[in-house]
Amino acid sequence: MTAARTVTVVGASLAGLHAARGLRTQGYDGRLVVVGEEHHRPYDRPPLSKEFLTGDGDPGEGLGPLALTDPEEEAELDAEWLLGVRAEALDTAAGEIRLTGGRALRTDGVVIATGATPRTLPLPPLDGVHTLRTLDDALRLRAELRAGAERAVVIGAGFIGAEVASSCATLGLDVTVVEAAPLPLVPHLGEEMARVCAGLHTRGGATLLCGTGVAGLRGAGRVTGVELADGRVLPADVVVVGVGVRPVTEWLEGSGLALDDGVRCDAGCVTALPNVVAVGDVARLDRPGSARTVRAEHWTSGMLQGDVAARNLLAGSTVERFDALPYFWSDQYGARIQYAGRRESGDTVRIVEGDPAEGGGFLAVYERNGIPTAALGVDRPRPFMRLRRELARAPQPAGR
Ligand SMILES: Cc1cc2nc3c(=O)[nH]c(=O)nc-3n(C[C@H](O)[C@H](O)[C@H](O)COP(=O)(O)OP(=O)(O)OC[C@H]3O[C@@H](n4cnc5c(N)ncnc54)[C@H](O)[C@@H]3O)c2cc1C
Repeated sequence: MTAARTVTVVGASLAGLHAARGLRTQGYDGRLVVVGEEHHRPYDRPPLSKEFLTGDGDPGEGLGPLALTDPEEEAELDAEWLLGVRAEALDTAAGEIRLTGGRALRTDGVVIATGATPRTLPLPPLDGVHTLRTLDDALRLRAELRAGAERAVVIGAGFIGAEVASSCATLGLDVTVVEAAPLPLVPHLGEEMARVCAGLHTRGGATLLCGTGVAGLRGAGRVTGVELADGRVLPADVVVVGVGVRPVTEWLEGSGLALDDGVRCDAGCVTALPNVVAVGDVARLDRPGSARTVRAEHWTSGMLQGDVAARNLLAGSTVERFDALPYFWSDQYGARIQYAGRRESGDTVRIVEGDPAEGGGFLAVYERNGIPTAALGVDRPRPFMRLRRELARAPQPAGR
């Protein structure tokens, strides 16, 4: 795509911003348009469930510590920002993106960076019921948590649910977390380590109820309680639904691009069309050396994929593959959880430092046939990072 005159990045957040940066640092000097449905400039989402929720700073226009860019960098990026504008459709044959209001944007290259949006439950739309993905979501939730709410129920004990529960506990609310599975986070951490992390809820003063679904909500106009499938009713002033996310691909229906729980790409973030790439939470990539595909919902993947996608978009073919070791972190109840690697069901886990039974920090290594596949650290940031580097260098079992 060396002759591109316009590249459009759809999604003005972490992955889109890094793709835009990647294009410029790799010498692209044509027109660069960034389309973002939110009114805000790119900002960081991880704090929204953590310190932003427990703090009281007003991010204001400049977004304060949440900002992912500053005016100087924006000037260097030399992009046209279309904020508060939604891409409605992509016509790959005509090289056009249809925007809200019927406007069409001619483009030679496209970076799809539309991320993900919270899954919902079939519950009545009552006041006091929240999901958390955007800054505006966080502002609404924070205002309610501070307006005298005493009891919070968090539905879903995944990472976001656990972080929100932890923040509610920090704010002094009585918190109950409801999880349909017998134990949260098992697909991510395996049963043994999931059990350890589930213990953080109790340690942090929250109640974790596992193995029960939600049957409905109580309240007229405003939520007053959560009805569980087993008949119990949990009184609630605020309810947060954290049952995972789905990639934002509706606007690509009919574009001809392959969609399968994300935008299908090769291992270099390139779709079937060499001038269309996808990055971040929305991108489902081939895994080099494996029949599997992977869609990560981690900050680090979103950040790193931008550069690879930009290189391949400018080259007009896949000259680089994205093969970074998956990594994420989570802060819950004063503990920092870090995970890196590709654990699979059946891998064994070995504690190499600390003792989870003592409630303090520890470091665990997952293995398959004696070969390390992943690492988990709780409050062991330095040794964890060493292990993460070692894992990134080490050969992985076939197919990972
Ligand atoms: C509360 C919270 C806490 C998190 N904490 C952690 C953490 O501790 N560790 C970690 O590793 N990860 C964490 N994550 C995940 C991390 O933030 C995401 O992986 C990252 O934001 C993905 O970036 P993205 O740019 O792909 O997508 P997003 O950040 O979702 O951005 C996509 C953007 O595209 C816009 N958009 C969507 N559709 C359209 C359209 N049709 N037209 C125009 N614009 C559109 C959206 O409005 C959005 O602004 C957290 C996420 C959340 C929500």
